[in-house]
Amino acid sequence: MAGEFAFIDWIRKQQKSGGIVAVPAGDDLAVLDWPTGELLLVGVDQVMDGVHFDSAVHSPADIGRKVMNRNLSDCAAMACLPAAAVATVALPRSVSMDYAKELYLGMKEAGEKYGCALVGGDTGSWDGKLVMTVSILGRSAGIRPVLRSGAKAGDTIYVTGPLGGSILGRHLRFEPRIELARELAGRGVANAMIDVSDGLSRDLGHICRESVLGAVIDAERIPVHADAIELAARTGRPAIQHALHDGEDHELIVVGASGLGATLVEIGRMVAGEGIMLRTGGREERLKAQGWEHGFATR
Ligand SMILES: [Mg+2]
Repeated sequence: MAGEFAFIDWIRKQQKSGGIVAVPAGDDLAVLDWPTGELLLVGVDQVMDGVHFDSAVHSPADIGRKVMNRNLSDCAAMACLPAAAVATVALPRSVSMDYAKELYLGMKEAGEKYGCALVGGDTGSWDGKLVMTVSILGRSAGIRPVLRSGAKAGDTIYVTGPLGGSILGRHLRFEPRIELARELAGRGVANAMIDVSDGLSRDLGHICRESVLGAVIDAERIPVHADAIELAARTGRPAIQHALHDGEDHELIVVGASGLGATLVEIGRMVAGEGIMLRTGGREERLKAQGWEHGFATR
């Protein structure tokens, strides 16, 4: 993109101080007014054209929103409050200034919805495809972070919403479950959590491994998204397979006591042992992780 310095000047005009931001980007580093006595949680996430989105199809605003929301969903997974983010973007030389601005605004608006200021970053142009990263800073803000390792044998496993078929569009437009996660963790009822980015089978597997437990889940109880049913009609695979393995749903898997409320769907239980057993009718079989990487360029 021509006019990179003009782009940076424009970005600086979008940023303002206030709240946690003592001095926004413009110096070598942004300056944050970090509350004392809180834990700082840090994450980073990268999206690449052809892997996580397809720039020939998806709008720059959607792409920007996705990369920010993936980070916000990781905040939800740990019940932390997003505070600030920094971003990098490697722009193909062919894109316009307007395109770059749309990317930026997609990120910024997604963050602002959850009180997360975009406070700095770096841009560059190159002969390759679009690549973006967002690095996020979260605050514990009075709530102990929920880990993958806290599940106990006998705990109930829940999901926060229907799963599967996200590739039909939801992978670009999901709502990070920050408020629900903070509410559950604030009540002290979430023993372990993770967001469904790689698929229920793989992400629940992470909780099993980190908690040194197994899980038994009921196929009939897993909420299957209408998108999974629509996708199943195209792929010929059962919709439940899409719900179990597709990923990029960004709902949460929550593990805790029974009876946590109507907003959560109970799908099974943590047990002694290892791995995940899927119960279908009276039959139980071992569920292999098949989390699947989007590969837009090859499809
Ligand atoms: Mg995650």
